[in-house]
Amino acid sequence: GRRGRAAMAEQGAASRPPPDVDTDDCLREYRHLFSPDILAGQVAFITGGGSGIGFRIAEIFMRHGCRTVIASRNLQRVSEASKKLVAATGQQCLPLSVDVRQPQTIVAAVDEALKEFKRIDILINGAAGNFLCPASALSFNAFKTVIDIDTIGTFNTSKVLFEKYFRDHGGVIVNITATLSYRGQALQVHAGTAKAAIDAMTRHLAVEWGPNNIRVNSLAPGPITGTEGYRRLGGRFAEEASQFDTIPLQRAGNKTEIAHSTLYLASCLSSYVTGTTLVVDGGSWLTSANNFPAMLGIASSSAK
Ligand code: NAP
Repeated sequence: GRRGRAAMAEQGAASRPPPDVDTDDCLREYRHLFSPDILAGQVAFITGGGSGIGFRIAEIFMRHGCRTVIASRNLQRVSEASKKLVAATGQQCLPLSVDVRQPQTIVAAVDEALKEFKRIDILINGAAGNFLCPASALSFNAFKTVIDIDTIGTFNTSKVLFEKYFRDHGGVIVNITATLSYRGQALQVHAGTAKAAIDAMTRHLAVEWGPNNIRVNSLAPGPITGTEGYRRLGGRFAEEASQFDTIPLQRAGNKTEIAHSTLYLASCLSSYVTGTTLVVDGGSWLTSANNFPAMLGIASSSAK
């Protein structure tokens, strides 16, 4: 009866994380929560798709019927990632070399992707660089490099996709940003500034390109296990179990959780969502530490 079925539902299931693996490998098991064919026939172009969060986004998209292009500077890295993704999902994945700071490399990669797949439906701007550093110790060039990769790289890639395909066919863009600027996170003026500018870009492009049936949104992850970002920026800090006390959901997130939220933003489930930022951080930015001496402790241990 009704009571029996209700009793079978797991308590707290709505905030229980799906299984994940911490390395850049595919999931050993996967249970579909969204319809398995929600991206059937589509193609996604994913910068930074060879590692970390971008790799898992590629995997989850492919498990939902999508073909992918994964692009970053290191061709060997994306080629190895592509082999794993194809083996785990049976979908096509084209690995390509791009440096998002150099528009001509993006043009060449998009041309090659269109030659191979004849279409691109989704752009994920995931490429980024980051490290912990106080503003006083940050070189002029270090600040500029992060703006170049994160902010200008996101603009370059979006503009090339617009001109080569989205202007005439529509499309979806998801920019991976961060919550760093919301409270002025210590040691993160470079990345926080770069990501805040991307969130602004998201709104500008959503307004200008909405009439072309292009949706543009940002997704801002919190601390995500199994990533370079997590290892560099808070691994030691987060190893102390008590650190999770400050996060409302009492834990770090995993890459599959970010991939699921990205899938929502890239699919028809979010057909009327544009110009916004989806924060996927367990409530962490509201409450987590922003203490300069404590953060400097992490910086010196992570620099080793
Ligand atoms: P990651 O594995 O280091 O991913 C960054 C990717 O960007 C790499 O695959 C890298 O590949 C690529 N890349 C760097 N510079 C590039 C360039 N100039 N041109 C093209 N590709 C470039 O780190 P992640 O932690 O998974 O981060 C993924 C995204 O999530 C980033 O946007 C990051 O800011 C964001 N994020 C992560 C966290 C977290 O907890 N991990 C939290 C908030 C936001 P190559 O070296 O081969 O170029």
